[in-house]
Amino acid sequence: MTSPLLSVHGLKVAYGGIHAVRGIDFEVTKGELVCLIGANGAGKSSTLKGLMGLVPHSGSIHFDGERVQHAATHAIVARGLALVPEGRGIFGRLTVAENLDMGAYIRNDKPGIKADLARAYELFPRLAERRAQLAGTLSGGEQQMLAIARAMMGRPRLLLLDEPSMGLAPLMVRKIYETIATIAGEGVTILLVEQNANLALKVSHRAYVMESGAITLSGPSAQLANDPQVRAAYLGE
Ligand code: ATP
Repeated sequence: MTSPLLSVHGLKVAYGGIHAVRGIDFEVTKGELVCLIGANGAGKSSTLKGLMGLVPHSGSIHFDGERVQHAATHAIVARGLALVPEGRGIFGRLTVAENLDMGAYIRNDKPGIKADLARAYELFPRLAERRAQLAGTLSGGEQQMLAIARAMMGRPRLLLLDEPSMGLAPLMVRKIYETIATIAGEGVTILLVEQNANLALKVSHRAYVMESGAITLSGPSAQLANDPQVRAAYLGE
């Protein structure tokens, strides 16, 4: 069996007295698209923030066999994790092209960066058209595209996506999800957090269901999509 790229045991995240993540175990294998679904407030975003070292946490996190917990966020990024946060975190006063340049700041392989920039514009033609536009003037969907493209410019080994469908019109959500499927199809390993379980279960290989800071179910996404409990609680049936 291949060893997992990301292996998490007993992860806890607390904000003062609020226990957002209560000791969870999960893993992501190279090349997989894994999703973490659950209601608002279940602890999904806190899990991603814990992985990136953005919030105090405990438990063990191994990435490619090495412990990463308690490392500084920049060191975690250098190991190959990239987070596209909820709210996207783009630089509104910089242009699209400047945002994409920022995404490659940890790299110095100029030909590789140039090739990846061309690929980003190919994946997102809308960004190519708007490359000189200030990012803050883009629509919500375009900003989400830019946030994903910028993360990809760092050539992450594991891409963490936090609620990419949040606040977007259905057509744009479909476009974003088509792109996520394309990126995953190219072999990029992805951990996706979504409240929209329907979408997430369609695009992913495996899924974990999170409730009140704990993982309550897990399995192949197709199997969970047919689970009566999941259908009743998350698929609106
Ligand atoms: P959402 O979809 O709303 O982001 P989520 O499943 O990602 O939900 P989290 O954002 O991880 O959930 O929140 C889990 C719990 O931790 C919630 O009760 C939330 O109110 C609380 N929480 C999150 N961030 C903070 C913070 N900075 N300070 C205090 N409590 C927080």
